[in-house]
Amino acid sequence: MTPRRVVIIGGGFAGLFAARALRRSPVAVTLIDRRAHHLFQPLLYQCAAGILSEGQIARPLRAVLRRHTNVRCLLADATDVDVKGRAVHARRPEGGSVVVPYDDLIVAAGMRQSYFGHDEFAAHAPGMKTLEDALEIRRRIYRAFEMAESATDARDRRHWLTFALVGGGPTGVELAGQIREIAGHTLDREFRTIDPLKARVLLFEGADKVLAPFGDRLAGRAARALRDLGVELHLGTRVTDLDERGLTVKERDGTTTRHPARTVLWTAGVEAPPIAGALARATGAGQDGAGRIAVEPDLTLPGHPEIRVVGDVMALDHLPGLAEVAMQSGAYAGRAVRHAVEARTKKPKPFTYVDLGSAAYISRGRAVVKAGPVHLSGVVGWLAWLFIHIAFLTGFRSRLGAVLSWAVVFASGARRERAFVLPGTGPAQQDGVTAALREP
Ligand SMILES: Cc1cc2nc3c(=O)[nH]c(=O)nc-3n(C[C@H](O)[C@H](O)[C@H](O)COP(=O)(O)OP(=O)(O)OC[C@H]3O[C@@H](n4cnc5c(N)ncnc54)[C@H](O)[C@@H]3O)c2cc1C
Repeated sequence: MTPRRVVIIGGGFAGLFAARALRRSPVAVTLIDRRAHHLFQPLLYQCAAGILSEGQIARPLRAVLRRHTNVRCLLADATDVDVKGRAVHARRPEGGSVVVPYDDLIVAAGMRQSYFGHDEFAAHAPGMKTLEDALEIRRRIYRAFEMAESATDARDRRHWLTFALVGGGPTGVELAGQIREIAGHTLDREFRTIDPLKARVLLFEGADKVLAPFGDRLAGRAARALRDLGVELHLGTRVTDLDERGLTVKERDGTTTRHPARTVLWTAGVEAPPIAGALARATGAGQDGAGRIAVEPDLTLPGHPEIRVVGDVMALDHLPGLAEVAMQSGAYAGRAVRHAVEARTKKPKPFTYVDLGSAAYISRGRAVVKAGPVHLSGVVGWLAWLFIHIAFLTGFRSRLGAVLSWAVVFASGARRERAFVLPGTGPAQQDGVTAALREP
């Protein structure tokens, strides 16, 4: 008998947990992802900041799923869904297309960075969603200190030593803390012309507080911790223009201010990837303002019990874009398919999210954690952050490697993963240089 065909679009937390829930089912799963790796997004900023390597936060999907013999991984970009013909159309990375038929479809495509209609900002201010983003941010951060060191003009040097971050959510806060730590702990004693400690970090946020979802108390503590670190908070501001030399913001009182900065990083918003729009058009499903797809309480689409949408790209009860939501919804969708295959007569209960809380790292020994009524900050928050991240990293080796890297950074400030490549210095440019700044 031909096994039931399950197609999963996306190998993030949601897609992976859906595939895992189907491990013992007599189904043939095809997991389509445009990248060959599963990415641990919550630690992207640590890769960008030179603490963790690419390999510590990204693992090949086929390696993660090697024991799931009913799963086939396909490196392709899903472009459309033929709802009538029950098939996903996808583009292979080196050209050519594939059509993958399904009996059940689980869409777990996540969200991507949004520049709120100003896509032209992206060239000057990378976002933080992919491994490529993290490596680009790492390049820009460490390059800025090098450029400041060789600058002959004091104003130019000042601008290279100014870092602007847009977005006061966890990622913006974490990156701001990291840059101040790099300046204060990692790079001290390494430069001869500049004093890295003089690096300014400006954090722009439209709301009147950072980390607003953590509540007033923790948001206040996070703001204090950031200011203690030397981060300059610009709350209630909106970016109106941005280029390679800095950004212009509209202040609360309506005036505009220009801030020169040679490194601008963007962590402000998200939007659904194009496949979400294609699915909505094909099925008539609703989408929220950011393009997330509205689902029924059992995560299916109205009139399409064979299609489920899970993780960040699903819109249900205003659930936040958190790894835990993705894991739980993905696992639920996988189990629902398993129930259907096993022809269980009882309809599965609607999806309910069990809130395990959220955390944001600020600096060495300082983090905020909110889990229901439990609010932690300072060293206790940091220990809780550590425990949560060790528990959720995929695989024993990633855990051990991350713990060792954190111990080194915590004890000495040293970061091992500072290598970056400058564009135009590849093999084609014989006299180019690759800046490899690994610590001895
Ligand atoms: C910088 C950062 C920090 C975060 N920190 C935290 C945190 O501390 N705690 C927390 O709980 N959450 C955190 N999150 C959120 C968390 O990572 C997300 O909620 C989670 O990754 C969502 O999982 P997902 O599977 O829905 O989507 P994703 O993990 O985004 O995975 C989507 C997958 O789909 C693939 N894909 C997309 N479109 C296509 C297509 N057309 N064809 C094929 N493949 C496609 C992508 O390549 C990707 O692999 C953070 C996110 C970021 C970006």
